[in-house]
Formats: sequence, structure tokens, C-alpha cells
Amino acid sequence: MDWDALHEACISCKQCRLSETRTNVVFGVGRRDAEVVFIGEGPGQQEDLKGEPFVGRSGQFLDDMLAMIGLTRHDIFIANIVKCRPPGNRDPLPAEQTACGHWLEQQLILLKPKIIVCVGRISAMYMIRPDFKITRDHGQWFLQDGIHMTAIFHPAALLRDPSKRPDTFVDLKAIQKKIREICTNTHIN
Ligand code: URA
Repeated sequence: MDWDALHEACISCKQCRLSETRTNVVFGVGRRDAEVVFIGEGPGQQEDLKGEPFVGRSGQFLDDMLAMIGLTRHDIFIANIVKCRPPGNRDPLPAEQTACGHWLEQQLILLKPKIIVCVGRISAMYMIRPDFKITRDHGQWFLQDGIHMTAIFHPAALLRDPSKRPDTFVDLKAIQKKIREICTNTHIN
């Protein structure tokens, strides 16, 4: 499937019950040739209303985090594990993650990223390994199918608990270093 066919199919998906309560499918945004992909857990209220990932308060903070390493959301691709908002901002259920996961899988086949940054615990457990502990394992690197993968604290967690921010700054600088080492078309300011 090419990008346009994938987008068309995804925005009419009814494979799980989240489709019944969504306003918009949040497909993902950014460069379709991105070498770096950030993956969150699922849309919140603002994202559901706008149809774009990370546009609420967490999203603004994510933009600040990207700016710290010379990136904007236009330099990367941003997606979520589930494309529709879980009601009341609850965590997406394992069954919802499984039902939705093939959309992300197809996005990654088209993108062929060099680096995947999991944003938060749910994303890291889905993408890296089920027993991932974000407090213990954030900032570590995992090589899977030739893709360098790491996880950072979710911006919502950093807004709630500023004491996690220094660790995240270290993780972000390591991501910047990895981009400089292995990426060829990702422009860092
Ligand atoms: N939190 C996420 O994990 N993803 C979004 O798109 C917004 C908030």
C-alpha cells in the first residue's frame, strides 16, 4: 500500500470500538521520508478534535523537547500506537493496541526509519518489549531489525513531575548524538 491508500484505509477503520467515540482518526504527521519517528500511545482530546498527534499541552511540551535538540515536528514523523482517542484519556487496552497496530506497522514499512523514539511507557512496552519499565529503562538503546530504538518519559509525566526532566534532557542529547551519527537527511539546527 502507498501512503495515500494507507491514509484512506486508516481514516475509515472500524476495527475496534474506539471508532464509535472518535471525532477524527489521528493518522500521524511529518515527513514521509523521516529517518526519525516518535511514537506516543494514543490521541487525547485535543488530538481527537484536530486529527493531529501531540497538539495539546503534552504536545506543546514535546515541541519544546524537540527544540532542545534542534528539531521541529516537520523534521520527523509523529504517530501513536492507537489512532483513535480512548474515552476519558484512559490507557489504550491491549486488544485496542493489537487491533490498531498494523496501521503503525505499515507506516513503518513505508518510512523505513533509522531511529524510533517511544514516547512513554505504553509505547515502549508495545514497541520494545512488554516488560519495559520506563523509570528503569528510559534512555537505553535497543537494536531491532536494524532500527535503533529508545524510550523517553511521556511529556505528560514530565509536566506532572518536573524531577524527571534532567534525565530526559540527557536522553534527548543521546538521541541528538545518534541522529548525528547515523542519519543523513535529518537536519539539526
Ligand atoms: N499523548 C500521546 O501519547 N499521543 C498524543 O498524540 C497526544 C498525547
